[in-house]
Amino acid sequence: MEKIYTIPVNEAYDAQCDCPICQLHKNAEIKYIEYYLGPSLMEPDTRIVTNKTGFCQHHFGMLNQSDINRLGLGLILHTHLLDIENDFSKDLSELAPDKAGLFKGRNNDYKQKLTSLADRIDNRIASCPVCEKIDNAMTHSIDVIFWMFKHDNDFKQKFINKKSYCLPHLSLLLRKATKLSQNDAADFLSVLASNINESTPELIKDVEWFTLKFDYRNSDKPWGNSKNSIQRSMRFLSGDCKEFNEIGKK
Ligand SMILES: [Zn+2]
Ligand SMILES: [Zn+2]
Repeated sequence: MEKIYTIPVNEAYDAQCDCPICQLHKNAEIKYIEYYLGPSLMEPDTRIVTNKTGFCQHHFGMLNQSDINRLGLGLILHTHLLDIENDFSKDLSELAPDKAGLFKGRNNDYKQKLTSLADRIDNRIASCPVCEKIDNAMTHSIDVIFWMFKHDNDFKQKFINKKSYCLPHLSLLLRKATKLSQNDAADFLSVLASNINESTPELIKDVEWFTLKFDYRNSDKPWGNSKNSIQRSMRFLSGDCKEFNEIGKK
C-alpha cells in the first residue's frame, strides 16, 4: 500500500479525537472545500458539475465561512443560479391550473405537475459534489484501514488502542466489513467490538458523574473525565460537528 494512502489514516489514528473516522471525514471535507474554491472552479468540467448540483446546505455553509475565494464563489453561484432558472422557469409559469368555473370542470392534472416539479427540485437540492467526493474518499479510507489492520502491525496496535468510534462510523465500518473474508472479519470485528464495549460504559459513567456533580455534596469533588462528557456523548451518538465543540461550554 502506498504511503500517500496510509499517511492520512495513520495521522487520523494519532490525532487527539473521539473517532478517527470523523477525523478522516473532517480532513477530506476541508480538502474538497478548498478544491472547489481553488483553480478547479475555472475548469469547464468542474463547472458543468457545480452548475447542475450546487452544494448541500452544510457545504454551502462551509464555502461561505471560507475566505479563500469570494470571487470564485460568486462565479460558481452565478452560473448555478442561471442553470436553476433555466431548468425551472418554464415549468413554474405553466404550473397554476385554470380556475374551475361554470363551464370548465375540475381538473386534477396540475397536482401531478406540482409533485413532479417538487421532486425535481428536491433532487437538485440533494445533490452535492463535496458530499459525493467525501463518500468516495471514506469508502477508500475504510479499505485502507482494513488493509493496514491486516498487514501493518504498528497500525494494528494503534487500532487496538483507539477505543472509540461514533455510531455513524461504527455502522459504516460494519457495512464495509461485510466485504471482508470470514477470517479477516473475525480478527477485525473482535477488536472493534471490544473497543466499543469498553468505551461506552466509560462514557456512560462520565455523563452520570457530570449529572452527580450538580449535587452540592459533590461540588468539591474532582470532575475527572466528565467535564466534556456532554459533547463526547453527542459526538458518539451522531458524529463530530462543530456545534459539539467544547469552547465556551462547561
Ligand atoms: Zn465518527
Ligand atoms: Zn454536501
